[in-house]
Amino acid sequence: MNNNKFCRLEGKVAIITGGASGIGAATAKLFVQHGAKVIIADVQDELGQSLCKTLSTNNNNIHYVHCDVTCDSDVKNVVETAVSKHGKLDIMYNNAGISGRTGRSILSSDNDSFKSVFEVNVFGYFLGAKHAAKVMVPAKRGVILFTASVASILGGETSHAYAVSKHAVVGLMKNLCVELGEHGIRVNCISPGGIPTPMLNDALKMNERETEQLLCSVAVLKGTVLEVEDIARAALYLSSDEAKFVSGVNFALDGGYSVTNRSFN
Ligand code: NAD
Repeated sequence: MNNNKFCRLEGKVAIITGGASGIGAATAKLFVQHGAKVIIADVQDELGQSLCKTLSTNNNNIHYVHCDVTCDSDVKNVVETAVSKHGKLDIMYNNAGISGRTGRSILSSDNDSFKSVFEVNVFGYFLGAKHAAKVMVPAKRGVILFTASVASILGGETSHAYAVSKHAVVGLMKNLCVELGEHGIRVNCISPGGIPTPMLNDALKMNERETEQLLCSVAVLKGTVLEVEDIARAALYLSSDEAKFVSGVNFALDGGYSVTNRSFN
């Protein structure tokens, strides 16, 4: 599997939360192809374990760890697992997220659902960054990456809970960029446009084909669609030493969508 002439993450150790599906799974695959040792952290145990089997090259290169990102001891455990198996942690990709079922209007938004979106999308990223920093600060190096969304840039695109949670992720990224920069740690966000993964299909109550058709109809950049592999390639760049001076960036991968006033909702 590891047949790239240029392995851009050779020797690096990465944790990917939400790595059992969608963007996280595509990133795990690409990171392994580029020589990284990967730990997939997710709550979908069967899916995560089966992905590991598919990607494993029998050299201890990929592991699955059950981890609910809202649970402090689970997140601590996944970081400790990376360190005990591989001696270090270079990349913490906080990617697990949910869209929630809070409704578009504040008039019909459900309070508990709002809190649960924050719990996963914000508190989960906070815990991931916190436990990763405990290992990265003494090592004086590391990369912390977050999946935000175009909803972190635009207003009125999604539910309040999701939009506000993704804006909060960018705030967390900026704060960490300033605090951790002096320890040689880079912190960035990736903000994808719509991709028909289980999360978005579920949020739009559409099947994959219908979501794709809707996204194509509102796309700015015609003739091509955004795929999970595009996000994985951005994560690869931002995690690699090629991006050694890139920190504090919210990198939109949306074909120009976030500079328009179109809406797919
Ligand atoms: P996905 O549903 O394919 O993957 C999300 C993964 O997160 C799943 O494997 C799920 O089990 C995991 N997860 C959810 N809650 C968790 C928890 N508490 N602990 C651990 N894992 C948990 O969806 P995706 O589209 O790949 O989403 C990945 C990220 O991308 C999310 O943060 C999402 O907000 C963001 N995003 C997605 C889109 C899109 O259109 N798909 C656009 C912008 C941003």
